[in-house]
Amino acid sequence: MTGAYFATGPCCFCDAIFTFDPELVPSIPVDERGAIAVDDAGAFKPTTFKRPICEQCMTKINRLREQHEMPAIAVLDGAYAPAEGFPP
Ligand SMILES: [Zn+2]
Repeated sequence: MTGAYFATGPCCFCDAIFTFDPELVPSIPVDERGAIAVDDAGAFKPTTFKRPICEQCMTKINRLREQHEMPAIAVLDGAYAPAEGFPP
C-alpha cells in the first residue's frame, strides 16, 4: 500500500498558504509567538518551532543572495510536492 501526504500552512514571510513536504521544505526557526528567532548578533537561535518558506519567497531570497555574492540556498527536490509514503 502506498500513499502520499503533505502539509499546508502560511509562508513565514508573505503569509501565502501553500502545500509542502514538511520534511523537505526550507524553513526558519521562530519563537512561540511566531517571530523569527535570532540572537542579538542576528544569528538564528535553535527553537522547537519552524515556519516554512514558500517557493516564491525562496526565489526572491536566492536572487538577493546572488546580488550580494552569497551562495544560493539549495531547495531540496520535492520540497513543494506531496511526499511519497506515509508520515514517519
Ligand atoms: Zn512566501
